[in-house]
Amino acid sequence: MADGDWLAKGGGTGTEDEGNDHVEATTPFRILTRDATDQDTFNEAVWGRVFNRWRDTSRVPRAVVQASCVAHVREAVELANRLQCRVSVRSGGHSWAAWSVRQDAVLVDLARLRHMTYDKKTRIVSCSPSATGEQLNGFLRGEGRLFAGGHCPDVGLGGFLLQGGMGWNCKNWGWACESIVGIDVITADARELYCSDVENSDLFWAVRGAGPGFPAIVTSFHLLTRPSLQMYNSVYIYPQSMFRTVLQWVIDTCPTADPDTEIVCLAKRTADGDDTEIIAGFLSFKPSQADAEAAMQRVRDSRPAGAKVEVWCEPTNFARQYAGQRVEQPTGYRFCSDNAYVDNHADVPAVLEKAATSLPTRKSFVLYFAMNPTSRRPLPDMAHSMHSDHYLALYTIWDDEADDAQCTGWVHDIMKDVQRHSVGSYMGDADFRYRTTRFWSRENGERLRDIRRKWDPEGRICGYLDAGDSSGVQGLENEFDWVDK
Ligand SMILES: Cc1cc2nc3c(=O)[nH]c(=O)nc-3n(C[C@H](O)[C@H](O)[C@H](O)COP(=O)(O)OP(=O)(O)OC[C@H]3O[C@@H](n4cnc5c(N)ncnc54)[C@H](O)[C@@H]3O)c2cc1C
Repeated sequence: MADGDWLAKGGGTGTEDEGNDHVEATTPFRILTRDATDQDTFNEAVWGRVFNRWRDTSRVPRAVVQASCVAHVREAVELANRLQCRVSVRSGGHSWAAWSVRQDAVLVDLARLRHMTYDKKTRIVSCSPSATGEQLNGFLRGEGRLFAGGHCPDVGLGGFLLQGGMGWNCKNWGWACESIVGIDVITADARELYCSDVENSDLFWAVRGAGPGFPAIVTSFHLLTRPSLQMYNSVYIYPQSMFRTVLQWVIDTCPTADPDTEIVCLAKRTADGDDTEIIAGFLSFKPSQADAEAAMQRVRDSRPAGAKVEVWCEPTNFARQYAGQRVEQPTGYRFCSDNAYVDNHADVPAVLEKAATSLPTRKSFVLYFAMNPTSRRPLPDMAHSMHSDHYLALYTIWDDEADDAQCTGWVHDIMKDVQRHSVGSYMGDADFRYRTTRFWSRENGERLRDIRRKWDPEGRICGYLDAGDSSGVQGLENEFDWVDK
């Protein structure tokens, strides 16, 4: 029987129990196959939830499983094992390069797998990976708690946490993945397991930083929450000509700044689109306005003269912050992103200046995300191991296909120089098809490779989408492409 026929008959539902203690499906198994589904419906299932409109549509999965319970995830993996094909996973659909869309794979879309519960005693929230930061914080608000998820409201916790998770106030509160206390997974051989620092601890080590190379499918995250706080925004906007002065001030401010204040520096176009402006942003999580003002006084006193706009400890909240992010990174556009952890010893304003002063389109922006002091403390024993004081990310945003070459070319051109001053990169804003770099310490990269081989020796789960999608079980080289090998 051809794959298509088998799949069209709902091949995943007739699973055999191979001694695995698993839950049964509570809802019908929903599978759309490439061969037996009309093209518009299939395309919508494949691409409808992918955020980035700049896409490689030559990659066509053989089927999409719209899992609505854990049993469906297991059945999809069993199906892929029978067909000897790969499985890809989608939580929120926000990976820039659409890592979930892979040639001939069974795509497991977790959008319909939804659960969220909070344990008042342990203060642990358990949720499905397709939950977004906005949904999670909406849910936790009633409990007086928060989770420092992604800044974009719609990013899925799945992809975000696997990469480490540069969440709210990551500079001080640490990586979001440090709050994972356990996960439920379906393994590549379709077993249901719980993983923590004492059970299946190598998978637990890997989930905190493996990114899209995690060799299993997470069906639930168990996360420590933190107390909810008020939020206050202070902003100073300067002309482009002051870029070096402003960034240096931000950098000097960071190490001793208030521990509940997130600090960013952005280069973006002015509202009329004619000029670029430099924005130093300070978001304080504090119990009260008076606390925020006291915490921010030193920043205010040390600011360079010449700001065009000043905002001082303005009350804000998650709803307003998420709304702002939706404006900065709107849906329906083409995006190309890349990033670097710039070396602590580099002249950072000089390294970033070309990027900050040559934005290719009106919506594009350059982000400096301060990481010191998180970058100066030892990390827990987990896969995520790459960072520096200085995170740079480029976000090129455009809407016309005719501008693809110019916009993507700008990113690649900037990174060619910047990468030589970097110690590595963050997976979340990377695209392995175009640039290879370091994502982990050497030791952690090797340990991760061994764990991936142990848990998924055949490369059933798709892994890293490199040029030609050929990295498989081998994974990424974890090496700069400009270093002589
Ligand atoms: C507008 C925008 C804003 C962003 N802001 C931030 C930010 O503030 N901080 C930050 O750190 N990052 C940010 N990112 C990057 C984002 O975290 C990554 O793109 C992340 O991969 C998105 O996760 P997702 O689940 O939405 O993506 P998906 O495309 O659904 O998932 C990406 C890949 O992760 C793996 N994966 C996902 N879920 C699972 C699972 N359950 N089990 C196993 N593997 C899985 C799969 O390989 C999958 O293909 C942003 C991205 C965008 C587009």
